Amino acid sequence: MTEQRDVVIVGAGFSGLYLLYRLRQEGFDVHLVEAGSGLGGVWNANRYPGARVDSHVPNYEYSIEEVWRDWNWPERFPSGVDLRRYFRHVDEVLGLSADISLDTRVEAATFDESQRRWHISTDTGRQIDTRFFVLCTGFASKPYVPDFPGLAEFGGEWYHTARWPEDEVPLAGRRIGVIGTGASGVQVVQEASKVARELVVFQRSPVTAIAMQQRQLSVEEQAEAKKTYREVFAHRNTPPGSMTDVLRLDIGAFDVTPEERERIYQAAWDKGGFHFWVGTFNDILADEAANLTAYEFWRDKVRPRIDDPAVADFLAPMSPPYPFGTKRPSLEQDYYEAFNQDNVHLVDLRSTPIERFTNAGIETSAASFDLDLVVFATGFDANTGGLTQIDLRDTDGVSLSDRWAGGVSSNLGLSVSKFPNMIIMYGPQSPTAFCNGPTCAEVHGEWIVDLFEHMRDEHLTRIESTPEAEQQWTDHVASVAASSLLSKADSWYMSANIPGKPRQLLNFPATDSYLRHLARRQANGYEGFVFAS
Ligand code: FAD
Repeated sequence: MTEQRDVVIVGAGFSGLYLLYRLRQEGFDVHLVEAGSGLGGVWNANRYPGARVDSHVPNYEYSIEEVWRDWNWPERFPSGVDLRRYFRHVDEVLGLSADISLDTRVEAATFDESQRRWHISTDTGRQIDTRFFVLCTGFASKPYVPDFPGLAEFGGEWYHTARWPEDEVPLAGRRIGVIGTGASGVQVVQEASKVARELVVFQRSPVTAIAMQQRQLSVEEQAEAKKTYREVFAHRNTPPGSMTDVLRLDIGAFDVTPEERERIYQAAWDKGGFHFWVGTFNDILADEAANLTAYEFWRDKVRPRIDDPAVADFLAPMSPPYPFGTKRPSLEQDYYEAFNQDNVHLVDLRSTPIERFTNAGIETSAASFDLDLVVFATGFDANTGGLTQIDLRDTDGVSLSDRWAGGVSSNLGLSVSKFPNMIIMYGPQSPTAFCNGPTCAEVHGEWIVDLFEHMRDEHLTRIESTPEAEQQWTDHVASVAASSLLSKADSWYMSANIPGKPRQLLNFPATDSYLRHLARRQANGYEGFVFAS
């Protein structure tokens, strides 16, 4: 028999779990379906060596007091292992598992207009009917593995970082290749370089990795900090929002003297984390000359750490390969020093691309590399892949995948016309990758809880975005993108990492403004949406 629910949530990461907790509190009959084997979303999936979050404590956690009261992090930037421990703690405190089905992938969903309910099919054969259908599938649910010739013939082991086995994969004494130097690649390189017999790093474009400034945290220090957590989290979740203490200044890079600029950059660098990326001048991502000052500061910090000037030219070129910060700058601890070791080799894929895998390893246009293990740190079909891989049908029977074939279009990133009662959290055209994960999970979550309560109170059974509101939001995201340097880089933010994907900035790069849009729409009676009773 088909199960009946008020709300079905897909995905047990920060977003889905928060919504489950809150909707249950408000008396909704809600169930969560998760494809993976545990809670935590990306942190359950990304078990690669060195996985670590780049948002510092206490940004990357729920603001729920029962959860933070007895929880302590060992380090300022928690590891993936600690994040999985954290999600077990969340589950113990909030008792979420009772309403979650793991190892269950949603494969398809259609809207039954006569009943005003979604009909959901899963890979276990389970069918669920629900009034509201909320997709919390994250931006990184569909790993991208480039189509290298010969991969099937490779005699060693290979894994994508987001499909890393739960059992330990040995690194020590092995010949390891890492393809990709984004955030995950940097973290794997740091771990593998310390123990591998040989480590070959295949780089397409250099990452502008920033000093993490990691340190241990004591329980006493956190007890002291927790005295202000209520205010800190309230501040985090309201405009300008996103992170508790990383805010752009109200001045541009040329509003100060060169000496003052240097001092501001140095202070941000010393604080570590994302401060140097999003905590300095307000024109860094808008003005090329301003941007260059940040790049030059970064370059001059990094190059002296690399012994071989030829290697330094590939890792931290004298001229920016793209405007600083327009590709996600990962955080690093000793990434650049790794390349001074005899066992670590850098391969520049721009001049010598990978031609094929062989039984023994990888052949580029210039050389062969015998490898035991290859790590694909090649990222994701980001933002849209997790959604379009589900067969979601609109009221005309057209799939979301077809609707978005020429580019994404949505209302606030939350909703798509002709997909009534379907809501997307932390998806494309929301701030998502530009927003601290738990912040946006909670802000989106509260907005959705309010919406569902409003509909319950007013006896409304149907909500749909208007095509006009969708077009307006899509145009707005495009115009913000056009005024930003973000559109100049071939990044996954711009969908440029996936062959054939329409080039488009898929996240709204201004959390502050987005939070205000959300509040205004709600205050105006959910302007841009139509309801029916
Ligand atoms: P996710 O955590 O992605 O969870 C989505 C869940 O949906 C997954 O568990 C997936 O299995 C499930 N799912 C997908 N499709 C289906 C389906 N069809 N059926 C059933 N289940 C499905 N953010 C930051 O703010 N700071 C950081 O430093 C940071 N570091 C990151 C590092 C890595 C390696 C990655 C991948 C992401 C990082 N992020 C970071 C972003 C991170 O995605 C968010 O912070 C946050 O975890 C998003 O939570 P979510 O619940 O929205 O999505």
